[in-house]
Amino acid sequence: MHSETDRADRSEAVFLDRARAYAQDIPIDVDLDAIQWTVSHRARRRAGSCRYDSDSGAVTVRLAWDAYREHGWDEMAAVIRHELVHAWEFQQFGESGHGARFRDKADEIDAPRHCSPFSEPRLRLVCTAEDCDWSADRFRASVTVTEPNTRRCGVCGARYRVEHVATGRSWRTNEGYEQARKQIGDEW
Ligand SMILES: [Zn+2]
Ligand SMILES: [Zn+2]
Repeated sequence: MHSETDRADRSEAVFLDRARAYAQDIPIDVDLDAIQWTVSHRARRRAGSCRYDSDSGAVTVRLAWDAYREHGWDEMAAVIRHELVHAWEFQQFGESGHGARFRDKADEIDAPRHCSPFSEPRLRLVCTAEDCDWSADRFRASVTVTEPNTRRCGVCGARYRVEHVATGRSWRTNEGYEQARKQIGDEW
């Protein structure tokens, strides 16, 4: 007889096997032998993550078990494609983000440009300078969110706007924030 733990371990192993097999079918130039796949039982906000050890060159893709249980395989397949783009960037360039290079590669393999919907941050700070693609994710209404007029882009020093990811509303001042917050209402 198998215990609950045995059963859970087995379904996890099956899930990871499927993830590994799926990754082999994605037309992206990634060294899959250098990737380790793991399951996270603690991740709440992020369905997947990709970490890179620059010393050893090892890449670890971690997939959230809860997200898989809740959203199913197809959503996780999209998450895997997204994380593979991160792995590709890490292996090719030693760094990874969600910039233009990431977006182009993500489009090639039809991967979501942002970490999957259920891992999407509530808010995103986006630089307004045309030649700057700085952005930063925020989950709570901190001062950077409520008073963007008092802060500047982390890279170029220009103004930034705050976007409410789910509704697409954005603002650049405290007034704008107050207004948007009212309009967004329950969808906040
Ligand atoms: Zn990502
Ligand atoms: Zn900037």
